[in-house]
Amino acid sequence: MKYGIPYLASGKIVNLNNMGLPSKKRTNRSKRERASHFALKPITSTKCEKCGAKNLPHTACAKCGTYKGRKAIDVNKRVLRTKRNKNKLEKK
Ligand SMILES: [Zn+2]
Repeated sequence: MKYGIPYLASGKIVNLNNMGLPSKKRTNRSKRERASHFALKPITSTKCEKCGAKNLPHTACAKCGTYKGRKAIDVNKRVLRTKRNKNKLEKK
């Protein structure tokens, strides 16, 4: 083992000249300024026109399956399908 030359566990020499390294120190202020956009925002929700349940905007209601006043999803069919899939998984 040669000293002064960085090695990987596999024995390969690490070429530090090709590694991407930050050219300047990131100051505390610049770190904080970048992090100012990291905060989570509350999820916006809309009320269903038919049943009044909370929903994500631009999506069909999960409870009754309506979107913009017309039926978009057959909720009962979906429930049956998920039950069937669960039964299939239990059988296997
Ligand atoms: Zn609804």
